[in-house]
Amino acid sequence: MEKALLVVDYTVDFVADDGALTCGEPGQAIEEAICSLTEEFVANGDFVVMPVDMHLEGDPYHPESALFPPHNIHGTAGRELYGRLASIYEQHKENITWMDKTRYSAFAGTNLEILLRERNIKELHLAGVCTDICVLHTAVDAYNKGFKIVVHKDAVASFNPAGHQWALSHFQDTLGADIR
Ligand code: ZN
Repeated sequence: MEKALLVVDYTVDFVADDGALTCGEPGQAIEEAICSLTEEFVANGDFVVMPVDMHLEGDPYHPESALFPPHNIHGTAGRELYGRLASIYEQHKENITWMDKTRYSAFAGTNLEILLRERNIKELHLAGVCTDICVLHTAVDAYNKGFKIVVHKDAVASFNPAGHQWALSHFQDTLGADIR
């Protein structure tokens, strides 16, 4: 079965100690798991996507402006991939698809579904942050669109431990995801 890896929002702002909206230590602890998954999928010739949040400074129309401090602002270092993933991306740019997104779900307002359908991809592997926000909303959309979902539990993290645990059970019990 054709498969793809989505590494959601693994950026400096969401992971580094001084990130604008950081998961902190739990986010940093999954760096190696995310890097090995990415390397494995790239080596295998599978479709690899980095869906990355993109905001404009002080955007009055964006609902997140009222909910969170400014983060992943277009053109800032906070939007760069975190840690070793940044060098993996640089090294394999031709085999990794960067995808700007403006909402929690990687499907919202992007061409992700078109890219997946034209490659006949049926199975989506999810990694990244936050388990209970952007990974969750991406998984819900994937479910509604009929994709099979695999969540790599050692490669997802959140600043909210209870939210992280809840989302993992939701993936499995409600979205029928395979948790690995
Ligand atoms: Zn955001």
